Amino acid sequence: MRKSELARLVKLIYSEGESSRVDLATKTSLAPSYVSSMVNRLQQKKWIIEGSHVASDRGRRKVLLYFNPDLAHVVGVEIGRVHSRIVVTDFLGKTLSFKKIPSQVSAGEDHALNSIHREIKELLKQDDKIQGMGIAHSGVIDRARGMVLFWPKVSGWRDVELRRAFAEEYGMATVVEDSARTTAITEQRFGLGKGQKDFVFVHAGVGIGAAIFVDGELYSGCNGIAGELGHTTIDETGPLCSCGNRGCLEVSASGSAIIQKVSTGLEQGVASSLSEAFSHDHQGISLEAIASAAESHDRLCETILAEAGIHLGTALANIVNLLNPERIILGGTLPRVAKNSLMEPLKRSMRSRAFQRSVSRVDVVVSELGEDAAAVGACLLTANQLLESLSIAAVS
Ligand SMILES: [Zn+2]
Repeated sequence: MRKSELARLVKLIYSEGESSRVDLATKTSLAPSYVSSMVNRLQQKKWIIEGSHVASDRGRRKVLLYFNPDLAHVVGVEIGRVHSRIVVTDFLGKTLSFKKIPSQVSAGEDHALNSIHREIKELLKQDDKIQGMGIAHSGVIDRARGMVLFWPKVSGWRDVELRRAFAEEYGMATVVEDSARTTAITEQRFGLGKGQKDFVFVHAGVGIGAAIFVDGELYSGCNGIAGELGHTTIDETGPLCSCGNRGCLEVSASGSAIIQKVSTGLEQGVASSLSEAFSHDHQGISLEAIASAAESHDRLCETILAEAGIHLGTALANIVNLLNPERIILGGTLPRVAKNSLMEPLKRSMRSRAFQRSVSRVDVVVSELGEDAAAVGACLLTANQLLESLSIAAVS
């Protein structure tokens, strides 16, 4: 039995979700008897389990095969600026538990990480199947070294060696990845990216990031930092961005930029339904409050969200002309809460700027995933890495 063939079969069963000996033989072009002997070996190891018997194309009954979801469980953490989200998933990415805790990043890196470690230690006591950790983080990530290089708007959070810290603490496989990308991976597995080959996921929350899928594979770039859509320039002489450049998309259209603009409007005495509620605390204004005011036709909030929509549409037109994707999925707090005010100006701006031939094919949709999506994607990445190492161990 060739090791590479067994490893290939393991990956195929995992990625297919549901298969049969007949399907596997067809897809691998291996002899059915040979596939059967490999499947038996994987069953003995409890890697795969048999499901029900169904009719095959040729009328014979076939047995469905599934990857064992309890082969290993994974902890996924999304470290956010305001909240951190912690999940445990099974090996196939199904959420088994979810918890949201305050991030407390302003209290410093050690303080923020310690509160996460406390939660993880509690989970490890409850679930002895946990074998890996996945960390999703916004900002600029060096995925090869598992480091956060730079976190805009969070001072002091530079060159944080997250993977080393977690791997040393728990002695488990640990993956660190950008949270826009991990969300996109969940989108590809369970959401609106399922079955799509060429699509772009745009995350618009406090910041703006993107994940680009080319022929079903995530495009990372030579340094692994592709997808920094928030720091692409839309106005060469625009305001200074926290990255050092001028006129980045993030300065005009991110959640924090929108809050800042509304806040400035209120300070300047522009009439708004938010004036009274936030008269003493402009910092307390949320995107939810702005979106809700805009829906009630508050002029200030409507105008600022429409402007953000136009800028986002410009950025999307650039994506459309550059990559010609079949779908763009918008995720994050901004499209989730402000969809009604944002989408019309966004689509209008995109259509007016992009090539007609490309833009007529692209479908712009708002993500329907829950708030555990980034952490779940980190678990899926870790499960993939575990699968590689388990495959090597199993066949050697
Ligand atoms: Zn920037």
